[in-house]
Amino acid sequence: MLQQTQVGTVRDYYARFLARFPDVRALAAAAPDEVLALWSGLGYYQRARHLQRAAQVVTGELDGRFPTSAAGWQALPGVGRSTAAAIAAFCFGERAAILDGNVRRVLARTHGIAGDPGTAAARERLWSLADSLLPESGIEAYTQGLMDLGAEVCLPRAPRCDTCPLAMLCVAHARGEPLAYPARPRRARRGARASTWLWLQAGDALWLVPRPARGIWSGLWSLPEFDSPEALRAALPGLPGAPRQGAAFVHVLTHLDWTLQPLYWALRGRERRRLQAELATLWPDGRWVAIEEALALGIPAPLRRLLADAAAASPPARRERGARSGG
Ligand code: SF4
Repeated sequence: MLQQTQVGTVRDYYARFLARFPDVRALAAAAPDEVLALWSGLGYYQRARHLQRAAQVVTGELDGRFPTSAAGWQALPGVGRSTAAAIAAFCFGERAAILDGNVRRVLARTHGIAGDPGTAAARERLWSLADSLLPESGIEAYTQGLMDLGAEVCLPRAPRCDTCPLAMLCVAHARGEPLAYPARPRRARRGARASTWLWLQAGDALWLVPRPARGIWSGLWSLPEFDSPEALRAALPGLPGAPRQGAAFVHVLTHLDWTLQPLYWALRGRERRRLQAELATLWPDGRWVAIEEALALGIPAPLRRLLADAAAASPPARRERGARSGG
């Protein structure tokens, strides 16, 4: 969870996740949708899928025993070289080098390594430097010290050189330009995109479809998405009447500002039955899901907010009378 996400955000997710999956066997045996549901809102959902696949490898192929070396950890889905090294150093005292973003910055500054650390050549150089600096003993303290230095002292925009224990030997500090290292990677320009979301409700049931296996929110359940309201109407000519237009909102992703416009249709039983063939043709894997059941699935965070609003607005007595699921 902490790869790409800050501690403050992760804390509650972590507690809920561990309460539901207290050990590796519980995680391995869970329904993937339940794992994604507990991850919903953390983003980078591939991490959740990898975590479960790793748990299945541990239980299925390693007889429930965790690897005891960096190489063994790195063989698990989703565990990179640096994470594997950190686990092996702390748990088994293995002399293995870490190189996460913070450590890359510390090494680039202390050794005056210019260039974009994201390039293959710079990465290679930094890895061999990290390997060459490993102490003969005390790998745990060394690794923790390096991590703390990157997290607390050698900060990206405001390095605390005056209190840094490495100031005497730091090249960037000696040159008076710590911020010049490492070079900033060239960022791709942020994009913008607008989509229309189809909220199709019959009683208490909502039509949900699985998102594609690749791309944003891959594999989560979501509302059908279209490039425009016109594209939506063209794809589903059987939709009755005019929709209620929900408030558009912008979902901010690392590379994209995504404007989503929900359009709401409430179908009567007859209308739902008439539309079913069109829905099943467009989304053979789609299904009607009761709103409260949908909240327990792996769904994107903005949809979770819309669902929570809808659940709060719908009195329980009415919800019980509504359609449940199927289709
Ligand atoms: S002296 Fe400054 S730039 Fe160098 S490692 Fe310490 S905090 Fe970072």
